[in-house]
Amino acid sequence: QILPYRFEGEVVRGFGRGGKELGCPTANMDDSVIQNLPESLQVGVYYGTAILEGEKYSMAMSIGWNPQYQNEKKTVEIHLIDYAGGDFYGKRLSAVIIGFIREMKSFGSLGELKSAIAKDIEVARRETVDQNKL
Ligand code: ADP
Ligand code: MG
Repeated sequence: QILPYRFEGEVVRGFGRGGKELGCPTANMDDSVIQNLPESLQVGVYYGTAILEGEKYSMAMSIGWNPQYQNEKKTVEIHLIDYAGGDFYGKRLSAVIIGFIREMKSFGSLGELKSAIAKDIEVARRETVDQNKL
């Protein structure tokens, strides 16, 4: 069993699309994180915990295929739950993926996507209440 899976990397710029407009900014991780991902970690949405500048957060995270690179390159994107600060591009982030939430899918409308994300965040929040899991 591959989970929990621990990694650390740098927050890089994505294409600035989808995250903040959806009310769900996602910190995109650098290529070293993506290259080291075990094959068995399938594309999908996960929950876990992450540390940024010494502070621990619950996270909802996606592993996906990047449409900007003809779906040939993966992306790892992390939403820090209850983080209220500003942008943190270039900072290091360490994280533990604890569990799988759902597979990736495309949604019929923006509203459906937004409610799926809200549910993902609730699952992540609930499943990480036990902070000893980190
Ligand atoms: P990008 O395409 O550059 O990843 P996003 O719209 O997804 O743009 O926004 C991500 C950026 O927003 C992160 O890199 C980070 O600097 C900032 N940010 C602010 N709040 C959060 C949060 N709660 N979770 C993740 N990133 C956040
Ligand atoms: Mg992003």
